[in-house]
Amino acid sequence: MGITLRTYVDSCAVGRGLFAAEPIAAGTEILRFTGPVLTLNEVRARGAAAANALQIGIDRYLYLDEPGRFVNHSCAPNAAVLGDTSLAAIRAIPAGEEIRFDYSTTVSDGWTMACRCGSTECRGLVVAFQLLPEPLRRRYALLGQVQRFIRELVEA
Ligand SMILES: [Zn+2]
Repeated sequence: MGITLRTYVDSCAVGRGLFAAEPIAAGTEILRFTGPVLTLNEVRARGAAAANALQIGIDRYLYLDEPGRFVNHSCAPNAAVLGDTSLAAIRAIPAGEEIRFDYSTTVSDGWTMACRCGSTECRGLVVAFQLLPEPLRRRYALLGQVQRFIRELVEA
């Protein structure tokens, strides 16, 4: 599975989530996402389970293996997807904290999801990166926390 740190899956407010089993320093790779590659149509055919897919390109999705599929979204994330398939801590994560990234940094299609992340910055709805407020897009781009294919799409 390519897990480089100890993590565990446990129940959380939105179902199941991935948690840090030990303190994780900022910048540390937590896991590599793996799974079969699907097209958008193949993802959509899975209905609600489409949320288990990570977009890695235009019409390219990883249908995530466990435990990667349990990583939930947050509008105030403590992790980010770097280099298409690597989940990394973007701040120090204490043991026992749920590990979450901002799904909008990996989505360019029409997929949306009502958000119940509970953060004070919650946007209420998770949407494609292009639909985020401009300052937030710029912040994620400067931090390098946007999938490469989305950066190319937005710059094109
Ligand atoms: Zn939210």
